[in-house]
Amino acid sequence: MIYNSSAYHAIRESLDPTAGTPEMHVAQFTAIAKEAPLFYGMLWVNLAYLTFVFWSVAPDWLVLPPLILATPICLGRSLSYIRLARTDLEPEDARRRLVLMSRIIRLVMLGSAAWVIALAQFGGDFERLHIICFVVLQSLFSVFGLIHVPRTALHIGLTFMPVALYFVVFGSPTLVAVALVYTLMGGVTVFLALIYSEVFFSRVLQNARLRELSAENLRLANTDLLTGLPNRRCFFERLDEAFVRRDETDLHLGLVDLDGFKPVNDTYGHPAGDAVLAEVGRRLGALGSDCVAARLGGDEFGVLFRGDRASALARAEAILAGLQEPYHVGSGTARIGATIGIASASDAEAGVAEFMEIADYALYRGKATGRGNVVIFDEEMLQSLRRRVHIERALRTVDLDSELFVVFQPIVSAGSGRTIAFEALARWRSPTFGLVPPDEFIAVAEACETISVLTEILFRKALAAATRWPPTIDLSFNLSAYDLVNPCMATLLAEIIRESGIAPSRITFEITETALVRDFAKAQVTLNALKASGVTLALDDFGTGYSSLSYVHRLPIDALKIDRSFTASLVQETACRDIVQSIVGLARNRRLRCVAEGVEEWEQIAQLKALGCDLLQGYGLSKPLPEAEIDAYLVAGPRLFRTVPTPERKNLAVQLARGGAA
Ligand code: C2E
Ligand code: CA
Ligand code: CA
Repeated sequence: MIYNSSAYHAIRESLDPTAGTPEMHVAQFTAIAKEAPLFYGMLWVNLAYLTFVFWSVAPDWLVLPPLILATPICLGRSLSYIRLARTDLEPEDARRRLVLMSRIIRLVMLGSAAWVIALAQFGGDFERLHIICFVVLQSLFSVFGLIHVPRTALHIGLTFMPVALYFVVFGSPTLVAVALVYTLMGGVTVFLALIYSEVFFSRVLQNARLRELSAENLRLANTDLLTGLPNRRCFFERLDEAFVRRDETDLHLGLVDLDGFKPVNDTYGHPAGDAVLAEVGRRLGALGSDCVAARLGGDEFGVLFRGDRASALARAEAILAGLQEPYHVGSGTARIGATIGIASASDAEAGVAEFMEIADYALYRGKATGRGNVVIFDEEMLQSLRRRVHIERALRTVDLDSELFVVFQPIVSAGSGRTIAFEALARWRSPTFGLVPPDEFIAVAEACETISVLTEILFRKALAAATRWPPTIDLSFNLSAYDLVNPCMATLLAEIIRESGIAPSRITFEITETALVRDFAKAQVTLNALKASGVTLALDDFGTGYSSLSYVHRLPIDALKIDRSFTASLVQETACRDIVQSIVGLARNRRLRCVAEGVEEWEQIAQLKALGCDLLQGYGLSKPLPEAEIDAYLVAGPRLFRTVPTPERKNLAVQLARGGAA
C-alpha cells in the first residue's frame, strides 16, 4: 500500500469530481460504472420494501408515487451504466459524466431522505425501525458503492444525517439509541471508506506514472541518444512496415556512410566527434515527412525515401550536399563527406534482408569507386552481386587446397638490383569461374568469414615454396583485416612457420590500414604476438588511408610499403614526389625499411633512388611469377636492371642523386 502526500492531494481533488487528473477521471468512472447498477438496484429494493411496510399506515399519495417515480430512474440509470462500462471513455467525457452522476445521485438521495422523514410521521416504532434500517442499509451501500467518488459518498452520508437527527429529537428512547448507534457507525464507515479510497487513488496515480515511464522507456529504446534520431532497432521496424506497404508508394532505402569522420575524431577528440555526429543527426532529422532517417551505428545512417527513383536520387544528392557543409568543432571547422548507396524495394524480391543487402552493396560500390557520391543499385550490380553469391558458395564447398595457388612478386634492392624477398600473392583458378582475381575472392572470403581457411592454405603453400629459395631471400605474406582480429591467428601462423623449418626472421607479414581501423585493440594484440614470434611487419598501401601516421608510432612496424598510386605519378607530379619524400624521411627517422610499390619505369627507379627509397617492387622489375619461373628469374635478374643505362639515363641519375628534379 502506498500512502503518500500525492495520494492525499489526489483524494482532496477527487472530493471535487471536476478536479484530478484525466487518468483519475477515467479510472473513477470505470469503477463507478460497474458499481452504479448495484447501487440503483439496492435503492429500488429498499424503496419497494418501505412502500410495502407503510402501505397500510401512510396515505396512498405518500407511499406509491415515489416508487413509481423511482422505478424508471433506477432502471434507466442501471442500463445506461451497464452500457457505459463496456465503452472506452475520453477523460473529458468521463469527467462530465462523473459530475452528472454525482448530481443525480445526490438529488435521488435528498428526495429519499425527505420521503422517509415524511413517512416517519405515520406508523409506530415497528415501521419507524424499518426507516432506520433503510437509512442504515442505503447509506452503507452508498458509501461503499461510491467509494471511488468520495465527495458524493460523503454527501450521501451527510444527507441522511437529518434523518438520524429527526429520530434523536422526536423518536422514542429505543429509536434514539438505534439512531445514535447508526450515526456512530456512519462516521466510522465514512472514515474507513476514505482510507480505502486513498489506496484506490494511489493505485491510479501509480498506474499513470507506470504508463508514463513505459512510454518514456519505449521512446528511449527506439532513439539514438547521441543524435536524437531513431536508432537501428526502430529503423528496422519502420523498414519492415514500409516494405509491407511497398506497393502503395515506391520505396527506396539509402545507406549513408560518413567519409573522413575518423580523422575528425582522431584530430579533435571524441567529444568533437560526438558533436559532429549530433549535427549530422540534426541535418538528417530535418529531411521532412517523406523520409525517415536513423542512425544505424557508428558513422552509418539509414534513410527511407518514399517516392520514385528520381526523387530518391535527388533527395540523396541534397543530403550529400548538406552533409558536406562545414561543422563547427570547438574553435575550428571540420569537413566530412559521405557516400550513399541506394536500393529500390522493387529490386528486393526476397524481402527486407535482400533490400538491406543490395543497398549495402550499392554503398560498398560507392566506397570502392571513389567516395563522396550517391550510387544506386542497378542491373550491373545485380549481376556482380549474383557472381559474389556464387563465389561465396564455391568458397565454402570446393576443395580450396587444390584450386588455390600462390604467385610471387620480387622485392628488389634499389641500389644493387638484388632480389631480397618475394611477396606471395594469392590466385584462385576455379573450374567454374576461371582465374578469379584476389581482390574479388579475398573480399568475398572476408565477408563470409572463410578468410582464415584461405590464409592458412595460402601461407602453407607460400612457405613450402620459400623453403626451396636461397636462404638470403625472404617471404612477404599479406594478412587480411579479419586475420588480425582473429585471436587464434597469431598462434596458428607461428605454428605453421615452426613446422616449415624456415627462420621466422625471413617472414614479413603485410597488413593494410583498413585492418587496423576495424578493431585496433584486437589487431594490436595479434601484431604484438606475431612480432614476439620473430617475424617482421610491414604496413601495406601506405599513404592511402587517413591515419597511417599514427599507426607507425603505435605498432611494432618494420617496413612501409608506399602505395603504387604515388609511384605512378612520381615523375609527373611534384606533390607526389613531396609525399614520397616525406614517407621516406619518416621511414628513415623511425629506422624502417621502405618499399615503393608499382614501379614500372626506369625514371621512377631513378627518382626513388634519388629520394632515398631503398626497396622496389613492380611490373618494371617483374610481374608476379609462378613458383616454377622463380629460378629463371633469379638467374636473369629484375627486368629494368637487365638493360644497361644509356648515357642520358646515367646523366639523369647523377642529376637526381644531387637533389635536382627529374
Ligand atoms: P597488394 O598487397 O597491394 O599487392 C600488390 C598488387 O599490385 C598485386 O595485385 C600485384 O599484382 C599488383 N602489382 C604489383 N606491381 C604492379 C605494378 O607495377 N603495376 C600494377 N598496376 N599493379 C602491380 P594482386 O595480385 O591482384 O593483388 C591484389 C590485392 O589482393 C593485394 O594487394 C592484396 O591486398 C590482396 N591479396 C593478394 N594476395 C593475398 C593473400 O594471400 N592474402 C590476402 N589477405 N590478400 C591478398
Ligand atoms: Ca601486399
Ligand atoms: Ca600494396
